[in-house]
Amino acid sequence: MQVTEHIHAIKIPFPGSTRFVYTYLIYGARICMVDSGIASAKEMILNYLQKTGRGLKEMNLLVQTHSHADHIGLSAEIKRLSGCKVAVHAAEKAWIEDIELQYRERPTATFRSYVQNPVGVDLVLRDGDILDLGGGLTLEVIHTPGHSSGSVSFLFPADGALFSGDAIPPVGGLPIYSDVLVTVKSIRKLSELTGLKGLFSSWHDPLRGEKVYQAMDEGLAYIQEIHDLVRQEKAKSPALRSKELTRRVLKVLGIPESLLSPIVITTIEAHLKHSQRLNVLET
Ligand SMILES: [Zn+2]
Repeated sequence: MQVTEHIHAIKIPFPGSTRFVYTYLIYGARICMVDSGIASAKEMILNYLQKTGRGLKEMNLLVQTHSHADHIGLSAEIKRLSGCKVAVHAAEKAWIEDIELQYRERPTATFRSYVQNPVGVDLVLRDGDILDLGGGLTLEVIHTPGHSSGSVSFLFPADGALFSGDAIPPVGGLPIYSDVLVTVKSIRKLSELTGLKGLFSSWHDPLRGEKVYQAMDEGLAYIQEIHDLVRQEKAKSPALRSKELTRRVLKVLGIPESLLSPIVITTIEAHLKHSQRLNVLET
């Protein structure tokens, strides 16, 4: 669906799950794609382009918010079909160019169904880079680590839009980040941007108006809520292993136990690392 003058959002469902990921297309003289989604979404994306009178041949740039499987699943195929350049932060380059390395270091049950092929990176992104999309349109790179070390967000000034990838956890959703304090710092960095009219994340449905900054505040409050829960459960049973602790925290949060995985345990361990702190929002 079209969400701003230039931006189109495509919601990609994860097969057999209620979860999803968003990918975005910026329509200008050419097309820039923000994340490619999962392998099974190919027809969906091609159909969307066709329905809106555009085509893959017009795409010249694919920017990645980070390298996780659900964001790079179609990248190799998109690049092959369009000839576009692929851009990602230096800290994510290895996992996008070598998916077996990613699988070894961050195995997930769905990995192989989401991504089948690695893709070569053409452009390494740095904080503050300004990408020229042609026709006066630009995209500014904002390094927002925490969810992963090379996670970036993209500011699209023409429409007052921000693409935040997985930087802001959705309230009630699965919390996934490897560093709590860095995540908080990144969300604060985004909340300091002025004049945002739209927030286009991978995890939230597109948000506009006051909901943009509200989602950032709520994400921060959610991180503190999780921190409080981790501290409480740890205090109740100090000898608890992190897997069991994660199970208990998810239960209180109302998140199904079926979503318990090593990556969520990593999040809880990231909180445990700072369990002496009452407040993780004061960094
Ligand atoms: Zn991710």
